[in-house]
Amino acid sequence: MAKLIPLFSGSKGNSYYIGSGAGGVLIDAGRSCKQLVNALEENNININKISAVLITHEHIDHCSALRVFAKNTGVKVYATEGTMNRLIADNRIAPGTKTEVINSPVAIGNMLAEPYMTSHDTPQPCCYRIRTADGRCAMVATDLGTVTPEIRSAFRGVDALVLESNHDVYMLKHGIYPPYLKNRILSNLGHLSNEACSAELPEIIQNGTMRIILGHLSEQNNTPAVALKESVDKLTQLGFRRDYDYTIDTAPVVTDGRVVLF
Ligand SMILES: [Zn+2]
Ligand SMILES: [Zn+2]
Repeated sequence: MAKLIPLFSGSKGNSYYIGSGAGGVLIDAGRSCKQLVNALEENNININKISAVLITHEHIDHCSALRVFAKNTGVKVYATEGTMNRLIADNRIAPGTKTEVINSPVAIGNMLAEPYMTSHDTPQPCCYRIRTADGRCAMVATDLGTVTPEIRSAFRGVDALVLESNHDVYMLKHGIYPPYLKNRILSNLGHLSNEACSAELPEIIQNGTMRIILGHLSEQNNTPAVALKESVDKLTQLGFRRDYDYTIDTAPVVTDGRVVLF
């Protein structure tokens, strides 16, 4: 049994803890170091038991706490080569910080981290699938302009999945964002809509994933209720029963103590 804890989610910051009693890893380090430390404390996660921070890409909502957090804790930072180069260039990594480029599955303590390339507007973005010592598997898949066949096949065998449900297309198109930003979000290198997210879920649940967390919701162009309704309605139409065939929740903007056991 392992835990997945959404610490932060959305455009102000993203970070997820995945681990077991023996320790765990963070995927992304958004917000500030102080807020990240507070979020971990609130969830009774001992900072000394975090063995790695895996960064998906260099957008600020995924790495704003990284420099200070990694420096203060001595934790090792993993990222793809393209992302690591940008993190260094953007001064997100302090001198002396332990780093490792990740291109293929890497053992971290008693866990296995597997990177999968995502379709997003940075040089080498990825998402991560994490396998725990007891063979359980979690994946965080956000900042996806589209779900590629590679990502879709990586969903197979995942017990707990964070899938992006960023925006309601109508709310985005009729919202206050300038046209260039609307187009960026809607593009294949932007963010996954509620509709696109819900279209993936039947196959994912059919393949055995039972714990779904909708992540990276836009505070401007979405609400938890709207995102949940889109996915639950789609699944209900196809005969999947909530809390029987699957569980679903949204990742909070800031942790409120919700934990997903898998
Ligand atoms: Zn991004
Ligand atoms: Zn993001």
